[in-house]
Amino acid sequence: MGSLTSSSSLTINQEKLASSLHESCQFGAAHRWGKSTEETGMARLALDDTDKQVRDWLMEQAKTLGLKAFVDEMGNQFIVRPGKHSDMPPVMMGSHLDTQPTGGRYDGILGVISGLEALRTLVDSGYETEGPIGLVNWTNEEGARFPKMAVSSGVWAEAVPLQTAWDLREVLAKDGAPKSMKEELDRIGYCGEHKASYKSNPFAAHFELHIEQGPILEDEKLKIGVVKGVQAFKWFNITVKGRDSHAGTTPLYARKDPVLAACKLVAAANFIAHEFQGLATTGIFTTDPGTVNTMAHTATFTLDLRHVQDEVLAEMVKACETEFQRICKDDSEQGCEVQWELLVDSPAVEFHSDCIAAVEASAADVCSSLPEAQGGKQLWKYMISGAGHDSCYTNMRVPTSMIFTPTRSGISHNPTEYCSPEDCALGANVLLGAVLRYDKQRAKPSS
Ligand SMILES: [Zn+2]
Repeated sequence: MGSLTSSSSLTINQEKLASSLHESCQFGAAHRWGKSTEETGMARLALDDTDKQVRDWLMEQAKTLGLKAFVDEMGNQFIVRPGKHSDMPPVMMGSHLDTQPTGGRYDGILGVISGLEALRTLVDSGYETEGPIGLVNWTNEEGARFPKMAVSSGVWAEAVPLQTAWDLREVLAKDGAPKSMKEELDRIGYCGEHKASYKSNPFAAHFELHIEQGPILEDEKLKIGVVKGVQAFKWFNITVKGRDSHAGTTPLYARKDPVLAACKLVAAANFIAHEFQGLATTGIFTTDPGTVNTMAHTATFTLDLRHVQDEVLAEMVKACETEFQRICKDDSEQGCEVQWELLVDSPAVEFHSDCIAAVEASAADVCSSLPEAQGGKQLWKYMISGAGHDSCYTNMRVPTSMIFTPTRSGISHNPTEYCSPEDCALGANVLLGAVLRYDKQRAKPSS
């Protein structure tokens, strides 16, 4: 090693990480829930004025660190620190700085700011990595303003055509006609010249630190999730057709009541999800014509089915189909008809074993120094992400994995979203350790 500093002595400073995170949240802070300046949520929608401000701030940080920064045609921001071998692609740390309209200070933001502090730690120590190490802020991950989540990592992965992304129009236009993504990229000056593509802008790997956004780590008193993949999901629109008739004059036995049948279907899907250890959710439920004293002729609901394995998800869908058919035919008095429409089909994502191994080794190392680890208690566990992330797209093209930190009460996409400064720093140090392990590994000649 060409440096006096060993990688294991590199530690991200907890106070600095917290102050950088909250400094970045001055742009777009909203929805106060406590007294201190930090006790607010966020409303920083992709490519709005506050998003421009935090982007400018990030560019300024790169400049202060003396690092090269550039922007691609989707507004993705890249900051790279060179290593010993300039011909190697960078190992990247990435996440997003945009938020939901009623978002918190950690979802996405923790991942980007931890990457920034990891770079700062490398710069300050003078530690020399084998290849370059970098940071990326992906545009519009939330899909809250422009309705396609992780769209810009999707363009980079060449899974989403550039023009499709540019043409996306904002969901809620504040004034006048809804603006397109391209118009807003141009307006805030973040339509860069670099092509958004893994071919012209390749990575060696992509690591993403993120809050868990669920209750599992907190409930199990654990500190780190070593994320092995993302669960599969399918979205359906289910239509149940019966016959509209008078609520007072139609005896129960003579009914074709699609609302009653649909309610049974929702309950059946939940039962099936339990059996398969998957998830079933109905978020939208409508009835037609929808009056008090008339049985509806049609009930429509959405069904979101999830499982970590594609094959089991397929079995869940099949079980629902069979059971829905049975309920509509045999358990709905005069019978109803059920129709399925597939809206979204997202297969399970398996992250790269080399990246998972680097995260695992780093998590074991960082967690072992905690007082809670006394007596040999393991403070990390393998997890599967319940939500989609930019890492799903990067995983299509380069070795990828993720790291989760605890999330207070499992609450996210909410102004009170919270991860303690200690847990944030722990996650950031696992991120740095994983990146350095991966960097060292790639320099070894493969035999
Ligand atoms: Zn996120």
